[in-house]
Amino acid sequence: MDLKFCSLFSGSSGNCQFIKTEKTTILVDAGLSGKKIQQEIINIGEDPKKVDAIFITHEHLDHVQGAGILSRRFDIPIYANEETWNAMNSTIGEVKPHNIKIIKDDVEVGDLFVEAFDVSHDSVKPVGYNIYYKNKKLSMVTDTGCINDYIVNSIKNSDLLLIESNHDEDMVLIGPYPWPLKRRVLGEYGHMSNDTAGNLITRVIKKGTEIVLLGHLSKENNFPQLAYKTVENILIENGIEVNPGLCLNMTYRDRSSLVYEL
Ligand SMILES: [Zn+2]
Ligand SMILES: [Zn+2]
Repeated sequence: MDLKFCSLFSGSSGNCQFIKTEKTTILVDAGLSGKKIQQEIINIGEDPKKVDAIFITHEHLDHVQGAGILSRRFDIPIYANEETWNAMNSTIGEVKPHNIKIIKDDVEVGDLFVEAFDVSHDSVKPVGYNIYYKNKKLSMVTDTGCINDYIVNSIKNSDLLLIESNHDEDMVLIGPYPWPLKRRVLGEYGHMSNDTAGNLITRVIKKGTEIVLLGHLSKENNFPQLAYKTVENILIENGIEVNPGLCLNMTYRDRSSLVYEL
């Protein structure tokens, strides 16, 4: 069997990504209620009881809200770095000691190899993840206010990339947020704009036939067509063909994406 990927939810109101192989099923983040996540797993024809692990990127509620509930209900181990465990302990409720897994840089779960890499965000130790299965690589990078060479090198040459396309900078500036929040979103420890996402994609794809999914859109400062068009224009300006060519698509805040098989 191939590597299956489905974004169950992606956006500033909650995040949860589903990854499955023949032997292993994992979630990356569980930032909605346990009930919603469970239902969406069933909606895509999968079994929530079969989730082998939940990986956490950082302690913000839109990434951890349902993690404790799912762990208690289905006896699922949660993987996070030590700093994130300390920060989310009080939010996610009690987790059985055998389900507390502290990840340093990488770990093997079933037939998946999972590697964490640091990103730049206003949480204690935020990470993105690369997941390797056979000769396939899947990368997830959201919640980062800036891009550096380390991040670029980490996510290079992925077969499927989920990338944050959080906001349109002009919409943030003219939008309803109070100034300190605007500064946070646009700052070094905030979120990636549509422009930043587009430029980053041009630096990390190799063949031009990969799957790139835009995610973690802000509800107030973005909309799907704007994110898609902004990124598509940057790719075309850089000589990258899109649909056909690179498969560029969206993920959604309130429902699952297509199921992709690598
Ligand atoms: Zn987030
Ligand atoms: Zn966050």
